[in-house]
Amino acid sequence: MFGSGILKGLGVTLKHVTVSYIDDVKRIPSRYAGGKKFIRQPMSEEGLFTIQYPEERRVLPERFRFVPMLIYDAETGKDRCTACGICSKVCPAQCIWIVRDQKPDGKPIPQAREFYVDIATCMGCGLCAEFCPFDAIKMNHDYELSTFKRYPDLVYSKEELSVPTTYYAQLYPEAWAEEEEQRRQKEDVKRKRAAAAAARAKAKAAEKAKKIAAVKTAAKQSSDDAQ
Ligand code: SF4
Ligand code: SF4
Repeated sequence: MFGSGILKGLGVTLKHVTVSYIDDVKRIPSRYAGGKKFIRQPMSEEGLFTIQYPEERRVLPERFRFVPMLIYDAETGKDRCTACGICSKVCPAQCIWIVRDQKPDGKPIPQAREFYVDIATCMGCGLCAEFCPFDAIKMNHDYELSTFKRYPDLVYSKEELSVPTTYYAQLYPEAWAEEEEQRRQKEDVKRKRAAAAAARAKAKAAEKAKKIAAVKTAAKQSSDDAQ
């Protein structure tokens, strides 16, 4: 029938509009209540509505990724990055540059003196974060990076990329808990191995002392017998 497609489309729209109100009423006072900057919007939510950006922002899932960030320890201020260069090697866009730090005598030290990511070229694939063996580079959720000049504004330096572990823990609560648990387990294993090695060394030293004492006693005994 002529116009049936239009009627069907209008019906679908009407259904979504109705669902929006039902969904809102179910979650009284409202999905927009409280004038909060961040609104609740899980993937399961239904209906039609508009996010009043920039006053409101969508709650991002933990897995969301935009551009990389470099992690440093919030307590010690120490960078996790050892300037191993793996991230720059695996980066498909080749947009990471690292300068390894060095001692005054020219010997390299495992930390980055300079670290740059060309944010304009980065495609947010997350491979750098996947491959980093030190959990030093992760994907940031911050997507409001617009600027008037591409260069040099979008070539981020180490200072611009660096964030504390507390920031990472807040963005990635699940990953953070998992990584910390793995770290604790590794440290436990290391501690146990060190304790076992120390116990073995102690037993060996005691055995050696016992043998020396036995030799000394035997020597004394033979000397006494000779007299
Ligand atoms: S961020 Fe990770 S992979 Fe990249 S240089 Fe630093 S330690 Fe290596
Ligand atoms: S997210 Fe992908 S493109 Fe961006 S710096 Fe990391 S590896 Fe390169």
